[in-house]
Parts: sequence; C-alpha cells; structure tokens
Amino acid sequence: MNIKDNLTQIQQQITNACQLANRAPDEVQLLAVSKTKSAEMVMQAYQAGQRHFGENYVQEAVDKVSQLSHLSDICWHFIGPIQSNKTRLIAENFAWVHSVDRIKIATRLNDQRSGQDTPLNICLQVNISGEQAKSGTTINELNELAAYVNNCEHLTLRGLMAIPQKQAPMSIFNDMHQLFTDLKSQYQTLDTLSMGMTNDMDSAVAAGSTMVRIGTAIFGHRD
Ligand SMILES: *Cc1c(COP(=O)(O)O)cnc(C)c1O
Repeated sequence: MNIKDNLTQIQQQITNACQLANRAPDEVQLLAVSKTKSAEMVMQAYQAGQRHFGENYVQEAVDKVSQLSHLSDICWHFIGPIQSNKTRLIAENFAWVHSVDRIKIATRLNDQRSGQDTPLNICLQVNISGEQAKSGTTINELNELAAYVNNCEHLTLRGLMAIPQKQAPMSIFNDMHQLFTDLKSQYQTLDTLSMGMTNDMDSAVAAGSTMVRIGTAIFGHRD
C-alpha cells in the first residue's frame, strides 16, 4: 500500500479521462476521501502533495482535523449525511460541505459559521436517482434550496454533489451536469460539480464533473 503511488496513478486516470472527454486535466480536482483512515495516512498523502481531504463522520473527522492543525494549507471537506446536532462541529472545522440537502441544515450552518473569517463553501446534494432512502434534495426542491443558500451571509454556494447508484447509466451523470449548467447560469459563485468515486470516476469526468471524491483507490479498502 503506497499512498504516493496511488495518488500518482489516480491523477493519471483523471488525465486520461479528461483527454477522452476533450477536457483539460486541471478542470478536475481530486478530493482524497480519508474516512476511517488514520491521521498518519492523511499525512502521507499530504506529503505527496495532496491538499483536499473528504470526511464522512463528524467526530472522527474533528479528531483528525485537530491532530493535523499544524498543516495550515490542508483543506477539509465534509461529505457525509448531516444530523442537525452536528452542524456546529461541521461549521467550525471544515472549509467545504458537500452534503447540504435541506434548508434547516443550511440555516444552522450559516448561523454557526458566523464567528469565522471565511464563508463555508457549500455544495447541494441532489438525489439524482430519486430513491426514497438516499439523502439529497429532490430536483423539484433544488431551486428553492439554492436560492436560500445563495442568500446566506456566511455560506458560499459552490455547486452540486451527487452519489449515483452503482452501475448508474451515463444518462444519470449527464442529467447531473445539466442541472449544474442550468444553476451555474443563475449563480456566479457556482464552479463545482462534485461527482465520481473510485468505481465511477471515468463516467463522472466524461459527463463534466469538476471534483472527484476518491477513497479506496488512494487509501485501500475500508473495514
Ligand atoms: C466513501 C465516499 C466516497 C469515496 O468512495 P470510494 O468508492 O472509496 O472512492 C466518495 N463520496 C462519498 C460521499 C463517500 O461517502
């Protein structure tokens, strides 16, 4: 398990996927998903040049954030489901949140971010496959949520996030890109389509993703 080699390999895969899609490789940013992995492993990735890290579990993440607080340019992204009693820790410890899917959570994050110098960067999670159990806003509610977040003083609306089902058809990825393009024409701060994981990265990049969230291919399988 060599994290540095894995990062090199995944960057190459991003470059290849971009070339196939006639896109410039620097249009796609790599978010290293370090959930369940140790601060030491995050440090190895950092030393190999990686700066953006994604976490799903608040308490685990906050422990790592504090262990690595000496790294002034590390950037933490929260990508997991959000319980409302955890929003304060998220607002205080992260630079980005990808999984905002309801107004109540946006309101709390905005209030609880007010003590910080910089706004919290927000992606709205869209339930693109329309499954009952999955988190994410419905497409119908997306415009209202986007308008709400755009008006929050301590939040910056950066984009959309999706977790397509396993083996999702290409049309799902393209639908997400279309939603992103439509919203981008309304909000100047929109620049991020957070889509693509270890197993669907190529489809996501082909469809126009600007940030891929990769865990397994960098840090190995999780228990
Ligand atoms: C775990 C997770 C990832 C990374 O998944 P891999 O398949 O390990 O690359 C990406 N996004 C979210 C929201 C996750 O929970």
